[in-house]
Amino acid sequence: MPALLKNLVAMMVSIAFAVWPVMAHAGPDAKLPRASYMGVSQDGEVTRFSADLSKAVGYNVYVVADPFRVIIDLPEIEFEGLADASGEPVGLVRDFRYGIMETGRSRIVLDASGPVLIEKSTISRHAGTKPARLVVDIVATSRETFQRLKTVEQPDPPPAPEQAAEKVAETPSPAPPMSDVERAEQEISAAIAAMQDASTVPIPRPKPKIGQAPLKRAQRPARAPGAKRVVVIDPGHGGIDPGAISRRGTKEKAVVLDFAKRLRAVLERAGKYKVILTRDKDIFISLRDRVKIARTSNADLFIAVHADSVRGRRARGATIYTVSEKASDREAEELARKENRSDIIAGVDLDEESDEITGILIDLAQRETNNHSLFFAKKMLTQMKRVTKMNARPLRSAGFRVLKAPDVPSVLFEMGYLSSSADERQLKSKTWQRKAAGALAASIDRYFSTKLAQKE
Ligand SMILES: [Zn+2]
Repeated sequence: MPALLKNLVAMMVSIAFAVWPVMAHAGPDAKLPRASYMGVSQDGEVTRFSADLSKAVGYNVYVVADPFRVIIDLPEIEFEGLADASGEPVGLVRDFRYGIMETGRSRIVLDASGPVLIEKSTISRHAGTKPARLVVDIVATSRETFQRLKTVEQPDPPPAPEQAAEKVAETPSPAPPMSDVERAEQEISAAIAAMQDASTVPIPRPKPKIGQAPLKRAQRPARAPGAKRVVVIDPGHGGIDPGAISRRGTKEKAVVLDFAKRLRAVLERAGKYKVILTRDKDIFISLRDRVKIARTSNADLFIAVHADSVRGRRARGATIYTVSEKASDREAEELARKENRSDIIAGVDLDEESDEITGILIDLAQRETNNHSLFFAKKMLTQMKRVTKMNARPLRSAGFRVLKAPDVPSVLFEMGYLSSSADERQLKSKTWQRKAAGALAASIDRYFSTKLAQKE
């Protein structure tokens, strides 16, 4: 990089640090860049994705495989009110979506129809009423070329602040004259965005050795007498992944978060449990991280909460799922496949996922854990059927990735179907939520008191 540019970046970063406390004072959401347009167009061989933003930001664009997706990582963007242009395939892009990943970080995911390469990406500065425009051009390639480039490339490198700032500087047309204040403001926001971008992109973690994970059970610290049991509640989906959406627009990610918070309140009121929510706001958590939260918090019980939809409107009632290698039936298998797609929807590179979860399912510790999971599922059914309509087959199993912590008894509670308007009404009702949370809390009580009687 030219020395001049390097100096400029160093200067911008130091200005950014100097003004940071002042900006932070204005409130975290006061100056979020706002998206006003997103769309895909095709020109010859090139498929172009464009997004209009109220100001230029640092970004990181890369491609992941299986399935092929283009990922654009950005600082937090305000997407509210953006007309949804996705749905129709254009050129090499089958569909796209966008949303928050976590506070300070958002993402756009393009589903590609096959292996693609990024030909070019730029972001222009905004000028007057003209928004900043992010442009990503993609072209088709062969799987072989894709893989060759991927192995040469560093896996998913977090952008250095300089790189991101360089991208911002890559203005395709000369920027119109700006006042010094405007220029300084833009440079600062670009530098801050670049820093946020760089500091929040996850760093690839070292892969654990196979066989290491099951040992965890033996290493688990002994429970101190009178210590509270740890219950992890996992509201499904979130952020960029909405989960199921009803015909009236109810989103699974919102309904399950509501219920999880209610359940936490009921459990905490009793004072017997330490309750952890994997998320308590509208952010995305990968399936691996959900499992990880269960394990690192030494959870005694893990309850994933979902409200899916199925084809047709007739399916009704709640279902309790446990994990199994072979699904109990076709519908369970289909549902697990759908739930396991959460990471793909959010653009997680499954290549980077360790076999932490997949390789150890057959372990004895897992089998023992599965017995506990099933035991809890039965207790839960006894309580739940008193307060709510259960599905015709209320206990089922399939290969849910989120239930694969080898040492934490785990169930997945499908509260009902968002494809059924009767279920939807119920799921949104405060009265129903209170009753269901009460019944679930009662089953947790029964489960632990029985375990205690059996001396675990
Ligand atoms: Zn779900």
